[in-house]
Amino acid sequence: MSFNDSLGSVRHNWTLDEVNALFQMPFNDLLFQAQAVHRQHFDANAVQVSTLLSIKTGACPEDCSYCPQSARYNTDLETQKLMEVQDVLEKAAEAKQSGSERFCMGAAWRNPKDRDMPYIIKMIEGVKDMGLETCMTLGMLTKDQAQALADAGLDYYNHNLDTSPEFYGEIISTRTYEDRLNTLDNVRAAGMNVCSGGIVGLGENANDRSGLLMTLANLDQHPESVPINMLVKVEGTPLADQEDLDPFEFIRTIAVARIMMPKSYVRLSAGREEMNDQMQAMCFLAGANSVFYGCKLLTTDNPDEDADRALFRRLGINSEMSKGYSDEVEQYAIEQAVKDKQTQGMFYDATT
Ligand code: SF4
Repeated sequence: MSFNDSLGSVRHNWTLDEVNALFQMPFNDLLFQAQAVHRQHFDANAVQVSTLLSIKTGACPEDCSYCPQSARYNTDLETQKLMEVQDVLEKAAEAKQSGSERFCMGAAWRNPKDRDMPYIIKMIEGVKDMGLETCMTLGMLTKDQAQALADAGLDYYNHNLDTSPEFYGEIISTRTYEDRLNTLDNVRAAGMNVCSGGIVGLGENANDRSGLLMTLANLDQHPESVPINMLVKVEGTPLADQEDLDPFEFIRTIAVARIMMPKSYVRLSAGREEMNDQMQAMCFLAGANSVFYGCKLLTTDNPDEDADRALFRRLGINSEMSKGYSDEVEQYAIEQAVKDKQTQGMFYDATT
């Protein structure tokens, strides 16, 4: 594929042949094209920063082959019941202080139960009050649950498609691709932004990587955020010994995602701690413009904040983390918001 008038336009009719052709471009041409598209819609030197907190860890009934949080695998993961609202708000305040713009909260559930919803809603409201954008990942949602989260002010809902429809059954058997798509529909219908991407390095083939991006890009509306994860191999999971994916294939996946979903934030997500600075820099060149930092990325390690700051400085990348995070007025407002919540019956006894 060469440069043409439609480069950088938003399309929803990608064919597998077209996507494969992008993946097969010479590496330099692909990166150049992805960077050109990126510059049409974004500041090429800005990266959006989110912090992700696991609000309920492990003991998940699902069987996702890559996931240490599944109760089916023996991974030595320390499980944790749903965190108390107050503790979540304190973590959010720390994230804001460190410069995050968005606070993402993840719970290892097949789906939230009705009894959890009041606490979840208080978490959303409390984090919103701090002036942070909110994102949650809680598993499958019914229409009513999606609406309740939207009404509480949730900005983004994360629900990854993981891989192509064809390969999905090799990775997860406890729910279907259709289930995933239905939840995305419910999230959209409730008016929330969608965060949806996938994982590469699961043992999928090149067509599956194309199929994942094609499914995402051919949704009626592109997800606003597209996390691209590299498999983190965890001992005890079925994919612990999976062969490494060629790192250039990962960078190509970022570049193709950027070209196909030109206005979406493409997020460099799990697996970043195993990438050296040069590889991360190449991912930014390929069009990644969002990262998680700080808190552990759900249950796998994430490069610490200082390393991120240093890398951004070396690359001349601007992020929200570099401005205003020591503002005393802002700090006071955050502390006040946490205190106010303490007096509003927001405690949840996570031990019951
Ligand atoms: S990926 Fe999510 S749904 Fe799958 S096992 Fe892990 S926590 Fe459960």
